[in-house]
Amino acid sequence: MSSDGAWLPVLTEKGVTVAPLQSANCGFYCEWSEHLQTKFAGSPLKDVAFSFTFEDGQVVTKKGECIVTQDGMEGSLIYAFSKYLRDGINHSGQSSLLMDLLPLQSEEQVIKKLRHIKPKESFSKYLKRTLNITGVKTALLHESFPKDAFQTPETLARCLKAMPVHFYKTKPIDEVISSAGGVCESSVNDMLMLKAMPGVFCAGEMLDWEAPTGGYLLTACFATGHWAAQGVNKFLT
Ligand SMILES: Cc1cc2nc3c(=O)[nH]c(=O)nc-3n(C[C@H](O)[C@H](O)[C@H](O)COP(=O)(O)OP(=O)(O)OC[C@H]3O[C@@H](n4cnc5c(N)ncnc54)[C@H](O)[C@@H]3O)c2cc1C
Repeated sequence: MSSDGAWLPVLTEKGVTVAPLQSANCGFYCEWSEHLQTKFAGSPLKDVAFSFTFEDGQVVTKKGECIVTQDGMEGSLIYAFSKYLRDGINHSGQSSLLMDLLPLQSEEQVIKKLRHIKPKESFSKYLKRTLNITGVKTALLHESFPKDAFQTPETLARCLKAMPVHFYKTKPIDEVISSAGGVCESSVNDMLMLKAMPGVFCAGEMLDWEAPTGGYLLTACFATGHWAAQGVNKFLT
């Protein structure tokens, strides 16, 4: 999105209904400790899964990767949840995901590996030897749970498989991949021409829709561009 939305007040002044523009496919702010910010900002989190629980109890889980930034999280896996997180933040000021650091292993498999305890081994060496958990993943574990949650293989496995991550704000709209909101369907005719401004056509992210990344955004922009161009042609002839 490289438009600055300067068109928005021009259209609303003419009575065009525009849903507020909001960040979509975006990163989010988290409240990290000083330690995480200074030591792990920019670290990739690979082979993890996130789950989002809707109010009705339905759960969406996706695997992938993202990046821990100085002030939050970015990347494709976060973008995939951005609509749910943003809606949650709009609703209650905060939104959360549960992170699974070992999505390819069941909790039982993780517990079994964690039972191989060596006396006097440090916690970080134990995690590395048994499950290859290192670096930012270990730091996030300390960030999210008190030490007594790691006392037994069973409780530690639970922490590794269901770590809450809290998000409190979307990244600003001028830093994000796309925007939600825009000119509402009720304001355009079937040629994507503004009912309140005959001869003015809308396309792409000006219109009120959103989609995930992966080509869907560009496809919708090209499609609505083509659609509006046909409308212009029809209007002029
Ligand atoms: C880093 C990044 C990666 C992305 N990757 C993907 C991807 O992999 N797949 C995918 O589907 N989508 C991707 N997108 C999203 C996709 O690029 C956008 O959805 C799409 O470009 C939006 O098209 P648009 O025509 O609505 O707006 P824009 O592409 O923003 O085009 C608006 C144009 O209007 C011009 N303009 C603005 N104001 C004025 C003015 N006053 N007068 C004249 N011209 C003006 C701007 O300069 C710009 O050229 C990505 C976006 C970003 C930022």
